[in-house]
Amino acid sequence: MKHIIKAAEMREFALKMRRARGKQPKTIGFVPTMGALHEGHMSLIEAAKRENNRVIVSIFVNPAQFAANEDLNEYPRNLKADIKKLKQAKAVTCLFTPGEAEMYPEGYASYVRVENEMTKVLCGASRPEHFKGVTTIVAKLLNIINPDRMYLGQKDLQQAVILKKMAKELNYQAEVKICPTVRGKDGLALSSRNGYLTPEQRNSAPALYKALKVAESMVELGERDAQSVIKEIRRKLKEENVEAEYVEAVDPGTMLKKEKISGKTAILAAVFVGKTRLIDNTIIDMDEWNAVKKENKEDAL
Ligand code: AMP
Repeated sequence: MKHIIKAAEMREFALKMRRARGKQPKTIGFVPTMGALHEGHMSLIEAAKRENNRVIVSIFVNPAQFAANEDLNEYPRNLKADIKKLKQAKAVTCLFTPGEAEMYPEGYASYVRVENEMTKVLCGASRPEHFKGVTTIVAKLLNIINPDRMYLGQKDLQQAVILKKMAKELNYQAEVKICPTVRGKDGLALSSRNGYLTPEQRNSAPALYKALKVAESMVELGERDAQSVIKEIRRKLKEENVEAEYVEAVDPGTMLKKEKISGKTAILAAVFVGKTRLIDNTIIDMDEWNAVKKENKEDAL
């Protein structure tokens, strides 16, 4: 696994990979991360490996996406352990770990924004500059690497949908792939921030996943009113002493609120377990459910 820290060298290396396509087409799959790698990140790398001949992973804790009062300084950084994991996975062609001065040199002033409701609601409401930081860093990484595909996790659904829109609208060649959330045995979505939790908090954190599961069962039993489902999720969270920042039912393509659970509906939530902010979501696809139900019915007949 090659390890590069300079943008110019990364660009040259990726360019050479692409030029070397020859008879056998070589494609580049790209996985952007902030490190402290866990099985969620590794599942994206595996997906990139399955669908491409070459895999590039970046690790960069992006200061532009943290507000002044957020956890930039506490964010876990362990490059040595990350490199060990990546080497063991035997899937990564190149690791790119630029420094802060490489990505944002003194006097840096160029930013990329998706300017519609999508970036203002949900996490965008409490973190107003967050998505501007995310779209800027990913646009920069795409410009340097120019991959064929970029792999993102559904765990950060709003971020993935915003980046998908940005990549399409700014004519990046990369196809954006959104991969399923990887969870612990108790359902808690893996996250680099789970390490902040005390053992007691770690025990109550799966309440978020459990509440989303309750929502799914309500819909399965016929509930279609988004507010009733949201109310029940909030009630479940409260029961477990988990404080909700937001719980919303939205269209997964636009992130706009829905009143009825119909077609595809994403239910997203952000909660605080102690001081740690955790997010999770589920996408309910009524058409798929109806199809499965119909199939089961036919089987029963
Ligand atoms: P991060 O390092 O937290 O910025 O995440 C890098 C990428 O990994 C993002 O696309 C995340 O959505 C994705 N990711 C983080 N946690 C998970 C998880 N539990 N399952 C799947 N993907 C994840």
